[in-house]
Amino acid sequence: MSTTASALKAPTKLLFGPGPSPVHPRVYEAMRQPIVGHLDPFFFQVNEDIRRGLKTCFGTANEFTMVISGTGSAGMECAVTNFVEPGAKVAVFANGYFSDRLTEMARRHGGDVVRLEKPWGETYTDAEAREFIASTKPAVVAFVQAETSTGAYQPGHAICKAAHEAGALVIADCVTSLGGMPVLVDESGIDIAYSGTQKALGCPPGLAPITCSPRALEWLKARKTTTVSWYLDLKLLLDYYESAHRYHHTAPISMFYALHESLAIITEEGLENRWARHKANHEAFVAGLAEIGVGMLVAEGHRLWTLNTPFVPAGVNDMNVRKKLMAEHSIEIAGGLGPLGGKVFRIGTMGYGSSPENVQLLLGALKDAFQ
Ligand code: PLP
Repeated sequence: MSTTASALKAPTKLLFGPGPSPVHPRVYEAMRQPIVGHLDPFFFQVNEDIRRGLKTCFGTANEFTMVISGTGSAGMECAVTNFVEPGAKVAVFANGYFSDRLTEMARRHGGDVVRLEKPWGETYTDAEAREFIASTKPAVVAFVQAETSTGAYQPGHAICKAAHEAGALVIADCVTSLGGMPVLVDESGIDIAYSGTQKALGCPPGLAPITCSPRALEWLKARKTTTVSWYLDLKLLLDYYESAHRYHHTAPISMFYALHESLAIITEEGLENRWARHKANHEAFVAGLAEIGVGMLVAEGHRLWTLNTPFVPAGVNDMNVRKKLMAEHSIEIAGGLGPLGGKVFRIGTMGYGSSPENVQLLLGALKDAFQ
């Protein structure tokens, strides 16, 4: 029988892939604090602070703002299971890996999915959004604001306007935008936005922030069918986190401490300063790449500041570059997915990892690996 011979000692890697991103030391420290019970008043106080901090990051006054115990995909599935009823038409803006995942989840929950396809790396114009929604008349519209598979940013204002004119609810994937660039839930009109802790928030993976508009909440309260997922049923979760504090599941307390600390760090830095930091470091990285002749997949003005997708230079093997970065610098970056496999790198400059020093470190290591 094998036994655990010694204490765990995890290696230190420089996480510049699409996530998880480097964790702030203060967040690690917060996770060491003693856990309390999941019905302890201290826990609910921590949760209230988190809800307040998330409202700021999401750019919303939505009272219904909270976290799901699970990773970003749990946030996605929570949005889908609660707001897509069997038979409901769901219009998906399909331009990357995560809009495909949304499609798959919506289908599994019985949605009648229609898709507007665009090549990966592109975004939708206002006219395309209006035409697609007007012609399909969906009950739910879903799009990915920050597409981690391509590095493209779709703020979503026109999509939401057209959806509301058609009487549809809008689900937006904000996993790679929250805490690093504008999400602007209220300004854009997003009804349900979800995210994950392991990207620009600078926490480990494990929680999925979610926010729902009063319109979405009204719809949910009027919903006649029961959500097939018990674990992700927002009505049950409300009973736990809100006034009744009725036991639903054992919340991962240490992850709540982590998120609490990360939101405290964001408050100290100032959200707009944090966006400006992400933008400046992204732009410095893109400029440095241009100097060595490396271009970007996504057109200027539509790029994420958190996740960069430079082309793999001609004659360079992306797998060899990634292996070299890991072997010589302990740097993790990722390759392209699906149609972008072998064509682009996916390099994160997010959260605690977004700094001028890291940009220089990455540029130096890449330059060396390209030779
Ligand atoms: N949506 C987007 C845009 C993502 O980038 C990811 C993860 O990378 C997810 C959803 C799923 O999140 P997780 O892997 O935390 O379940």
